[in-house]
Amino acid sequence: MIIAVDGPTASGKGTISKELAKHFSLPFLDTGLLYRAVGWTLRLQGGNADDPIDALNACTFDGQLLDNPDLRSETIGGLASRVSIHPQVRRALDKRQKDFAYQSAGAVLDGRDIGTVIAPDADVKLFVTASSEARAVRRFEEMKRRGEPVNFDDILADILKRDARDQNRSAAPLKPAEDADLLDTTDLTIGDAIQQAIALVNAKINRRRDKDPA
Ligand code: C5P
Repeated sequence: MIIAVDGPTASGKGTISKELAKHFSLPFLDTGLLYRAVGWTLRLQGGNADDPIDALNACTFDGQLLDNPDLRSETIGGLASRVSIHPQVRRALDKRQKDFAYQSAGAVLDGRDIGTVIAPDADVKLFVTASSEARAVRRFEEMKRRGEPVNFDDILADILKRDARDQNRSAAPLKPAEDADLLDTTDLTIGDAIQQAIALVNAKINRRRDKDPA
């Protein structure tokens, strides 16, 4: 079974995806980390994130880099968002994600274009959203917990900028697949959001079973 989870930044999709992977015993890939690894490598190489050639040259990173917790910083997230608009970068990361999605054990992948581009025939597609304010509050609390300097207005502005970049790029823009189930987490605790996601997956599996009994 392939479960595709897409949605904007800080919607809760990362936590939900990890919990779905645990619940259904499936391997999990956070595809945002691949774009973050490109941003990280580009910075080491002294490249310009808005230049497609520099960004493509940064796609040859070692898989071990994905375990580096520093990839999760806001700075690297910003670079990831900029390199991800280049079609050359998306193509370079395509095979790695498809190989993961279509492994025989099944998989859960989270990102922006999993249900639309990477695994368009995924068994289950979830599109996880939340209002931009709710997402900014979550990001604010998370950064405060990590002891990072925080300013709510800056965080909200950054979230809106990243949304616009993800939604308006021509290569694989962020949008729900036509057959995706929407999950709005604005007013949900993370525990409730996880329970609703599990229920949506089970409902989808049962609908498929009823349509196509073995
Ligand atoms: O999800 P995360 O915040 O780690 O992703 C970092 C950036 O990588 C996002 O802002 C987005 O622009 C890009 N991304 C993407 N496609 C994916 C996953 C992430 O364009 N499948």
